[in-house]
Amino acid sequence: MNTNHELFQRALKNIPGGVNSPVRAFKSVGGEPFFTQRAQGAYLWDVEGKRYIDYIGSWGPMIAGHNPPSVLEAVLKTARDGLSFGTPNPLEVTMADTLCRLVPSLQMVRMVNSGTEATMAAIRLARGFTSREKIIKFEGCYHGHGDAFLVKAGSGALTLGVPNSPGVPKELADLTLTLPYNDLDAAKDLFAKIGDEVACVIIEPIAGNMNCILPRDGYLQGLRDLCTQHGILLVFDEVMTGFRVALGGAQQLYGVTPDLSTFGKIIGGGMPVGAYGGRRDIMEKIAPSGPVYQAGTLSGNPVAMAAGLATLALVEQPGFYDELHRKTRLLTDGLLAVATDAGVPFSITRTCGMFGLFFTSEHVETYQQATACDIPAFNRFFHGMLARGVYLAPSAFEAGFISAAHDENDIADTLTAASSAFKNLFK
Ligand code: PLP
Repeated sequence: MNTNHELFQRALKNIPGGVNSPVRAFKSVGGEPFFTQRAQGAYLWDVEGKRYIDYIGSWGPMIAGHNPPSVLEAVLKTARDGLSFGTPNPLEVTMADTLCRLVPSLQMVRMVNSGTEATMAAIRLARGFTSREKIIKFEGCYHGHGDAFLVKAGSGALTLGVPNSPGVPKELADLTLTLPYNDLDAAKDLFAKIGDEVACVIIEPIAGNMNCILPRDGYLQGLRDLCTQHGILLVFDEVMTGFRVALGGAQQLYGVTPDLSTFGKIIGGGMPVGAYGGRRDIMEKIAPSGPVYQAGTLSGNPVAMAAGLATLALVEQPGFYDELHRKTRLLTDGLLAVATDAGVPFSITRTCGMFGLFFTSEHVETYQQATACDIPAFNRFFHGMLARGVYLAPSAFEAGFISAAHDENDIADTLTAASSAFKNLFK
């Protein structure tokens, strides 16, 4: 058997940075990642047999906990009939029906294989539909690794200090304009200047890739109104928030209707899936009904659809989100209390199933505030928690996730670990 360290040394030989997605490498928190052998419910076990209470849930998909029996059964049953057909299959039709039923703004939907694919396709569609070329995104928001989005991006790009990636042609980056998140006046000013050149505004309605930042009251509706006024399509990137913060996503929570939305993570139940959808008149422009090209060898894959549908069946159960919200409150209230008890300047943000931890006494509502927090303190806290068997996101610029599988004992154990980690933070 390999230890975590041995595996990482091996990985470094043939995989850039030893990982297949940058933030997994622990670069910002320091140290070496562990290698997961298996996962069940609220827990991960590494290759050395150490158990962690997991507050990442594969970066969002595992809202019902790891490996729920019904999802595993659906995957196994579907896989017996074949892994991929390259023809239409019934499960992708059921998936489209389900997504359109649960999210009213989706009049049509197209399945893809990742959140990145969904956002890339959505902006191509927005450009094709409006015949305009510019797009607007927000500082610290992350929409996957498509060229157009690696401009002042969040998540791993922010963690590693490369929010503008080399390799993105300047001519393309020039078409992506950025605005400060949660600042409606800045949006009004920019729209007044160049609104008629902009195809779409893409936003994480709750920002989860610069830690977790909630929209100010009226902010999303304000953007909606501005977009309508200027003929700009509003795209909600709900890859993270979709089916997490409410059954109908952040758009349901805030009562704001986008023209297009993107999804991923939960709708694949742990398999590689993304989707984009929205207004019928826009979606009809996609090939083969329309001229905007987008395709995928494995799109609508039956096994992935089975995992996603089984997961959606779990979140559709009555009371699912009330219970998840209650657990989120229990955890975050508890963390705030133990931090206060230890005299550590600390604040939290939270919504259903998702939270942010900030080493500052301010309530954080902006990118500037998030990046001005005590990042070294977060890094020490991360390692303090890891040593005590609790796995938080290995970066101060990622949201935390809690699942339906976390029970009150897990939360109590987390708070005991946090109390001790906070008390040792400045020793
Ligand atoms: N959009 C948002 C809001 C995300 O959080 C992510 C990934 O974390 C993506 C898009 C990209 O999704 P994927 O990693 O599946 O390509």
